[in-house]
Amino acid sequence: MTLIAVATLGGTISMAPVAGAGAVPRLGAAELLGGLGDLPVDVLAETLAGIGSASMDFATLLRCRDWGLRQDADGFVVVQGTDTLEETAYFLDLCWPSEIPVVVTGAMRNAGLLSPDGPANLRNALTVAADPRSRGRGALVTLNDDVHAARWVRKAHSSRLDAFTSAPAGPLGMVVEHAVHYFHPSPPRPPALTGEDFGGLVPVVETGLDDPGEVLAHAAAQPGVRGIVLAATGAGHVSAGTADVVARLVDSLPVVVASRTGAGPTLRSTYGFHGSESSLIAMGATMAGWLDARKARILLRTLLAAGADRDAIERGFRLRGDLD
Ligand code: ASP
Repeated sequence: MTLIAVATLGGTISMAPVAGAGAVPRLGAAELLGGLGDLPVDVLAETLAGIGSASMDFATLLRCRDWGLRQDADGFVVVQGTDTLEETAYFLDLCWPSEIPVVVTGAMRNAGLLSPDGPANLRNALTVAADPRSRGRGALVTLNDDVHAARWVRKAHSSRLDAFTSAPAGPLGMVVEHAVHYFHPSPPRPPALTGEDFGGLVPVVETGLDDPGEVLAHAAAQPGVRGIVLAATGAGHVSAGTADVVARLVDSLPVVVASRTGAGPTLRSTYGFHGSESSLIAMGATMAGWLDARKARILLRTLLAAGADRDAIERGFRLRGDLD
C-alpha cells in the first residue's frame, strides 16, 4: 500500500480549548489521525512540535524536512498552524530536493468549535500526497478542498474557512470525493536550495505615506541584519527619502523590493522618478517580481543561508519571482 509520512507541528488543527484559557495545542499526530477512521494508505506519523505557527522557525522546519526525507514514503504531509503556513509551504518548496509530494495543511476551526475543518483537511492532504500526479510539483497546500501551489498561496482572511487564495493564478486543483482533480500542470521546478546558515535577520519594512525612510535606516542598522525586504507601494515605489536610504544601503546589504498591494508584480521599466522601480533597480535593488514581501523574505533568507552573493540573489529572484 502507499505509504504517507505525516509530521505534525501544532496549530489550530491540533488545538482544543482549555477552561478559561482559549484553545491551545493539545493533539499530536496519533490523535489527529485517529479521528479519520479507516484510511486507504499506510501512515507513518510523528509529532515533531506542538506550537502556534507564529512561533515557527527555520530550525524546526529543517528538522521537519529532514524527517520527511528520511521516511522514504510515497508522500509527505506537514500539519501546522495556518498563520504562517504559506511561509512554511514556500520554504519547503524551495528546499525540498525530491519528486515526492509535500502537502501542507492545517485548520481554521479548532476541535472545540462547531464544524472543525481539521479532519477533512488532513484527510484531503493524505489524498493529495498519495496521488502519483502530485509528484514533482514541490510543496502543495490543501485547505477547504482546494489544492494550491506553495508559490502562490497566501492566507487572505483571518477567520473564514476559505481563508487561503492563490490569486491571481488560482488553485492548482481540488479534492472531490477523496480524489484530487488537477486543473493545471505545475511549471518545472528550479533546483532545490540547500543551506543551513539561517542566522541573522531579514526585516520586512513596509513603506507608505509620510515615510522619509528613517524606519528603513533604523532597521538596517540593527546588529545581525543580513538583508532587507521593502514592502513598497504600488509596483515597487518608495518615497524620495526612502530612495536616498536605499541608495546608501545597497552597497552593504541586499535590498529586495516587493509590492505591498498583495497582488500583481513589481514593474521594471515603467516609471522613472526618484523612488520608482527603475530608479531602485539602477541603484542595485532586487525586485521580488510576483513574490509578496512575506515570500520574498523566505526566499532571501534561504538564499543567504545557502551563501548566495549579490549576483546569486538577483538570479534567484529572477528565477523564482518572475514568470518568464
Ligand atoms: N490561528 C492559527 C491557525 O490557524 C494558529 C496558528 O497558526 O498556529 O492554526
